Amino acid sequence: MSSSVLVTGGAGYIGSVTVERLLTADCRVVVLDNLSKGHRSAVPTDVPFVSGDIGDIELVSGLLREHEVDSVIHFAAMSLVGESMEKPAEYYDNNVVRGSRLLSAMSAAGVSKIVFSSSAGVYGEPASVPILETARTEPVNVYGDTKRVFERVLEWQASATGLRHISLRYFNAAGASSDCGEDHSPESHLIPIALQAAAGTRSGLTVFGNDYDTPDGTCIRDYIDVRDLSDAHIAALKALDEGRSGIYNLGNGEGASVLDVIETAEAVSGKKVPWEYGPRREGDPARLVASARLAEEELGWQPLHPDLSDMIGAAWEWMQRFPDGYPD
Ligand code: UDP
Repeated sequence: MSSSVLVTGGAGYIGSVTVERLLTADCRVVVLDNLSKGHRSAVPTDVPFVSGDIGDIELVSGLLREHEVDSVIHFAAMSLVGESMEKPAEYYDNNVVRGSRLLSAMSAAGVSKIVFSSSAGVYGEPASVPILETARTEPVNVYGDTKRVFERVLEWQASATGLRHISLRYFNAAGASSDCGEDHSPESHLIPIALQAAAGTRSGLTVFGNDYDTPDGTCIRDYIDVRDLSDAHIAALKALDEGRSGIYNLGNGEGASVLDVIETAEAVSGKKVPWEYGPRREGDPARLVASARLAEEELGWQPLHPDLSDMIGAAWEWMQRFPDGYPD
């Protein structure tokens, strides 16, 4: 596939793995990241890298023209459920206002294809699982709402300008490629926290709530390998080229509880994960499990690493190689 792609947030977790996959697919790539969360060293040095903000219309339209970009993959966003409940205005500003400015810059530069990182968070507390894309969207946290609102911005922008857009609703990204992995500071995601607790680099983990309506009382999530997620972006670019727009869930259709994840982290690492129950975290739905049949049918995408121990194993290996995460 020979195209030129702008990846916003390409220094982040899913963005950096997607950059790797795009390079393998022979795409030309330019990364825009403000490095508020991402890591410069997660992006290969031979990939053009611009440190800047998606809301800077002049900067973005300029680089779209300079690099003759055909399509944008838009990851750059604030993405923590807990934090979003504490900083709603910042989340809407980053994820909706500045995202809309990115669309203005695309329009100014004549770029009309975008793949957007959406989230299972748009569904809120689903009426039933697995969740189809046609399910009601009633987000129960600010983060999920920013993603749903931006999906609507895309739809309206498409009717006004002919933009083609694919929103990928990720369930829970997990795992690592050999060179790129999950390194947030502070870390708030379950799998890296469990593995750090196993490695002894953190004292333990708190399980947020044990009174959910699930078999073991802890929240159920659909963990999806970051390599599979990244491949879905390449499939989405092809679909955009074929004239398609749409919304697709990306998950495995399998749920794992917080306790399942802890047990798997212990099995993979061969070490104990010290943990205790704590109160619920605000904004957490009990169960999020995807039906990704539409992505299989229309994008020709299928997860190649559906096994939770494979994902946690890849994350563990990455952590062994980079015990302190990225150098920067
Ligand atoms: N979780 C937990 N303890 C932690 C971090 C997460 O019990 O220290 C739970 C969280 O409440 C959720 C699940 O693990 O039910 C996955 O959370 P994560 O933050 O990894 O992803 P999210 O579902 O928020 O995207």
